[in-house]
Amino acid sequence: MSDCLFCKIIKGEIPSDKVYEDDVVYAFKDIDPKAPNHFLIIPKKHYASILDVPKDIGILDHIHEVACKLSKEYGFDEGGFRLVNNCGDDGGQTVKHLHYHLLGGRSFSWPPG
Ligand code: AMP
Ligand code: ZN
Repeated sequence: MSDCLFCKIIKGEIPSDKVYEDDVVYAFKDIDPKAPNHFLIIPKKHYASILDVPKDIGILDHIHEVACKLSKEYGFDEGGFRLVNNCGDDGGQTVKHLHYHLLGGRSFSWPPG
């Protein structure tokens, strides 16, 4: 998607602060952090949202694994963390490239409001 912000970040056309990368996912610091650690984990392939992810490719499992790995690496696994996917306009999704927010380093209330 040539006009997608996160596709441009993956291609390096827009700078980002990378925290993890492999063949299928890229993770970087959110530009407007809502926690001491606020990372975005995205698939390198463009999917507009989780509704567009084909079955059986395992990308969502993989994103969860990367979230757990990062929580340990950055030391907020013991305190706990929040892993969030916003889907669609009512879900508060502003960038239409599938992404998970990984937030750690503070406590959160529920419901989020
Ligand atoms: P969402 O509202 O779930 O679509 O989340 C989009 C997130 O992308 C927001 O938390 C933004 O702060 C973040 N964001 C937007 N532009 C950038 C950027 N250039 N680099 C890093 N994060 C960004
Ligand atoms: Zn994209």
